[in-house]
Amino acid sequence: MEFPLSLKQQSRPAVPWHTALLWSQYATLTLLAALLAWLAGEWTAQREKRIQVDAIHRTIEVQALGLRGTVARYNHIPFVTAQHPDVQALLRAPQDQALVSRVNRLLQEASGRVGANALYLMDAHGKTLAASNWEDGDSFVGQNYGFRPYFKDAMAGRDGFFYAIGNNTRIPGMFISAPVRGDYAPLGVVAIKVSLRDMEDAWRRTKDPVVLADAYGVIFLGSVDAWQYKATRPLSAEALAWIRANRQYGDRLAFEAAPWQQTRVADEASYETRAVVAQRAQPFLALDETLPEFGWTLTVMTDLSPVTWARRTGQALTLLLALVLLLAYKVWQQRARRYSELHRHRSELEKRVAERTAELQEAHAFRKAMGDSLVVGMRARDLQGRILYVNPALCDITGYRADELMGQLPPYAYWHPEDMEKHWQNNDAVLSGRTGMQGFESRIRHRDGHDVHTMVYSAALIDGRGQHSGWMSSVLDISEQKRAEEQLRLQTASMQRTGRLATLGEMASTLAHELGQPLMALVSFSGAAKAFAEQGRALPLRETLADIGTQAQRAADIVARIRGFVRLQTSGFEDCAANALVANVLALLKPEIRQQQARVVTQLHGKLPVIQGDRLLLEQVLLNLLLNALQAMQGMAPADKLLRVETGLDDGLEGEHLFIRVSDRGPGIAAAIQAQLFEPFFTTKPEGLGLGLNICRTTVEAHRGRLVCENHAEGGAVFTVYLPLPV
Ligand code: ADP
Repeated sequence: MEFPLSLKQQSRPAVPWHTALLWSQYATLTLLAALLAWLAGEWTAQREKRIQVDAIHRTIEVQALGLRGTVARYNHIPFVTAQHPDVQALLRAPQDQALVSRVNRLLQEASGRVGANALYLMDAHGKTLAASNWEDGDSFVGQNYGFRPYFKDAMAGRDGFFYAIGNNTRIPGMFISAPVRGDYAPLGVVAIKVSLRDMEDAWRRTKDPVVLADAYGVIFLGSVDAWQYKATRPLSAEALAWIRANRQYGDRLAFEAAPWQQTRVADEASYETRAVVAQRAQPFLALDETLPEFGWTLTVMTDLSPVTWARRTGQALTLLLALVLLLAYKVWQQRARRYSELHRHRSELEKRVAERTAELQEAHAFRKAMGDSLVVGMRARDLQGRILYVNPALCDITGYRADELMGQLPPYAYWHPEDMEKHWQNNDAVLSGRTGMQGFESRIRHRDGHDVHTMVYSAALIDGRGQHSGWMSSVLDISEQKRAEEQLRLQTASMQRTGRLATLGEMASTLAHELGQPLMALVSFSGAAKAFAEQGRALPLRETLADIGTQAQRAADIVARIRGFVRLQTSGFEDCAANALVANVLALLKPEIRQQQARVVTQLHGKLPVIQGDRLLLEQVLLNLLLNALQAMQGMAPADKLLRVETGLDDGLEGEHLFIRVSDRGPGIAAAIQAQLFEPFFTTKPEGLGLGLNICRTTVEAHRGRLVCENHAEGGAVFTVYLPLPV
């Protein structure tokens, strides 16, 4: 059916539901794998981070300890120095040059011993009276540091602590101060400047950045030069003013933001940051540690790549694992599918086998029932003739059990001993496939000795592969039918006989006809006897009288025979030699033959078997046939009158027969009259009775023979009497 174009265009090929399901399964699995990979990555990263954080913690602890140690090392120096009497004295007499010089040396020595940058003494106004670097060009002596917080703190009676760039040296350092106490108020301040350069150098040697920022977040010390004086957080105006007032970082008044991009997570001390090191932004893990005693913050960073690497490794491994699992799952699924398919195939096969078995059993049962119920005997044989199967009906027909027949090769037990040759012929014909479908009759011998007439039909046995594997024969017991047929034949013959001779008139005619011949002979013989008597010829007279006697006896015999024949008495059957019959009849007809000047040719078979028959009646038949032949040639020239009598054997008609054939060269039998030839009273002759041939046929059939009439190819009629040979 054709759809409208618009409808066709609208319809889109639908994705099969199982493909969609498969894809959704894949999508879910992929999502799951991704989630798992992310989780695993995070877990591994966190774990690695903890390890890194621990390491940073340790670094911070070490660095803080170092810093505190450094401070502690110098912390007491200003205090102790402040206690020195010369120091106290100088504050009271700042003009005393000898004292100045002594204190200068004292400070120089002390500073040299502890390894400080400078150790110096300031008066109550912040003016430096003496300093360890009194000899240097950039000596502190004469400089006023009254603006520095550490000075102010010390003057207020506290210890001072400050980190700043040196006002005239421009060298950064840590300043620690202590007041020089007077009676009522501090007289001045002793301060020590310590460089943290060594520590910084040590930091530079480590690969992880370490920085120290002041209370405002300005980095003043660290392992990365570029970060020096960068602000870790925005500075307030107030803070900037303080730094300026205290000249903490010399002339530097603006502080750029440190090149850090921090990512902090709440509740976590550590944080991630991207920081520019050597002009390259790198990810770091960082941790801050505030040192409250100094108001500083120590920041230690470590490369974040191990964490990133751990995250990626975790993710990759998980993905790999997921992939392996997925593959394993696919393999398992495929195997399971194959197994289930195999299982399904097997159960289907088993089901089919069971079905086939049931079918075969049913077919076998059906065939067995069929074979058992048949009244026709069935026999299957292989190509060599070995019996493979017989049904019960065949066992009944032959009298042998199935197990006795099975496996037998020809000759079989039931073959009739008298028909062995015929059995072999039939057997060869069947096994070579020459019999076709028409079948053949076969007489067999039942086990109990009686004869069974059968009709055998054979067909090729084709096996399941289409191969010719043998022969299947059906064997029909036709004994009963044979008997019935024989009886019917006898009855029919009898009816025909009695029918033909039933009427008195017919009988009288028959008698007249049959007796006509001898009576006519008697008349002619008696005429001859009379002539011989008148002539006084004793010898021919005696011979003629003897002939008269013979003919008279013959007439009497005919009467007796016909009476007996009508009564269906066949007891008169005796041994008859066909050639003798011919000779007798020809002898009887000698006068007629001579008179007609006909030529008689005989061709007699030398080894004819003796048959059973009524000699007289058979002679009568021949006599009739010969007389008819002579009559047929009556008007012809004597040279053309050829009478031919033959005897012989013939197996052309239902078995072997003996035949006596009479041929003439007369006009033959016209086709128009051929059908009526044997009818009683059919004659073409003016004085004919039309009974001769009718009686002949009746007589021959009474001998189980047949009388056949045909025309000779060279002209003339041919009458043949076929008589069965003795069984
Ligand atoms: P009939 O001899 O008394 O006529 P048949 O029964 O012997 O009676 O013969 C019947 C007919 O068959 C004959 O009249 C004749 O026409 C024909 N017939 C018989 N024998 C021959 C023969 N040998 N040749 C030609 N016709 C024959």
